[in-house]
Amino acid sequence: MKQILAAVLLAVSLLTSGETVPQKDYYDSGITVRLLENGTILELTLHDYLIDVVLQEMPASFSLEALKAQAVAARTYTMRRIYFGSAHGDADVCGDSTCCQCYLDEAEGRTVYGDGYAEARDKVRQAVEETDGMVLVYGEELIEAAYFSSTGGSTEAAAAVWGGDVPYLQPVSSPEEIRLTEQTVTPEQFRAALPEANLSGEPVSWFGGVTYTEGGAVESMTIGGEVYTGAALRSRFALKSTRFTTAVTADGIVFVVTGAGHGVGMSQYGADAMAEAGSSFRQILEHYYTGAEVRQLY
Ligand SMILES: [Zn+2]
Repeated sequence: MKQILAAVLLAVSLLTSGETVPQKDYYDSGITVRLLENGTILELTLHDYLIDVVLQEMPASFSLEALKAQAVAARTYTMRRIYFGSAHGDADVCGDSTCCQCYLDEAEGRTVYGDGYAEARDKVRQAVEETDGMVLVYGEELIEAAYFSSTGGSTEAAAAVWGGDVPYLQPVSSPEEIRLTEQTVTPEQFRAALPEANLSGEPVSWFGGVTYTEGGAVESMTIGGEVYTGAALRSRFALKSTRFTTAVTADGIVFVVTGAGHGVGMSQYGADAMAEAGSSFRQILEHYYTGAEVRQLY
């Protein structure tokens, strides 16, 4: 692992010390990100890319310390792909949120933030610049800095969601307000979504046992004699997370879902709640990424 960080440090020093690199105010400005967008590879500085990513990934109205935590997570995510390869050939990252990280360019930013765009961008730029060059490491390894929108009570272990244990992606408490969404599915829609299940008789008779992850999400649920993982049900019914309950009502099957996203790593709403309560971006990151630490990489 030590040689991995050493390789990054060497690559960064080459990038930032060469004569061809213009003098910049920030180390992030000396690093190029190759971004795949609509089949074309755009080149931009890490500094500019991170501002656009943080603007899209987290509301600029969040506390500055939460935005700084997001900036460090996004920088770490990006640096891993720049130096250790990505799934996109010559590009480091793509602009698809379900694959890599989404970002907000100026035109989209003006649509989302309207007249507040310049102010929002300034605040996010401050978060990126105040954490210039900082990444998350576990031992000597740049971490896979997963993050998601919100949860209720606890995050999830990477092993519970993706399989494969990751020491710094473990379930931890998330001190945020609980956000619930309710989704009602008619019995006909329910049968169509789970065609292999035996869904005869009254809906109330369809549901069998439920198991939960250590973090408290649905691990598996037996429905109509079939066992589904929480992730499979999240996908079949487009639920916001795997943390849900079901109830049968006169209208159909009601899912009550807590939070949004895969639940692994940093909760963005949790980060904001911690920041509001006085935590620094370091404290936020070191809370959500068990055993990881913030390091000035360059
Ligand atoms: Zn991608």
